[in-house]
Amino acid sequence: MKFSQNGLYIERYIKCVNCGVLIYEGTEDDTAKRVEPDGRIFCSSWCVDWAHERDVRHGAAKHAAERETAQA
Ligand SMILES: [Zn+2]
Repeated sequence: MKFSQNGLYIERYIKCVNCGVLIYEGTEDDTAKRVEPDGRIFCSSWCVDWAHERDVRHGAAKHAAERETAQA
């Protein structure tokens, strides 16, 4: 069982979809850093950028594979 900084039991765990860090709803610091660009919750804009770059890389690899399949 985890407790937030104000000593109250946390009923809902929110995790960053990128790095999996727990985000505490009750703390001003975490609330300020929290980012929800498209309904997915990230702990910071750093993780938003990281996830976006990963999606771009995966998309590029997928397109490359599709091109190779088309040529075969
Ligand atoms: Zn994160």
